[in-house]
Amino acid sequence: METSTMSAKGGSLPAGRHGASGGKKYWRCTICGDLHYGVNPANPCPTCNNPSSKAVEITKEEFLKILQS
Ligand SMILES: [Zn+2]
Repeated sequence: METSTMSAKGGSLPAGRHGASGGKKYWRCTICGDLHYGVNPANPCPTCNNPSSKAVEITKEEFLKILQS
């Protein structure tokens, strides 16, 4: 009975709406090593001007590790 409405609950959130908790991630530019925190990586990178496709997602642990080094 309820299976037909399952798709309405997950995976179809409107992209333009920011939730309270954000969904932010940690990013590192593979070109210059710049770190970013946000829903998406900086595009372009403010340091080396490369597109966000050059950035990779990293964990919070990695992010902090890089910051402290
Ligand atoms: Zn960069």
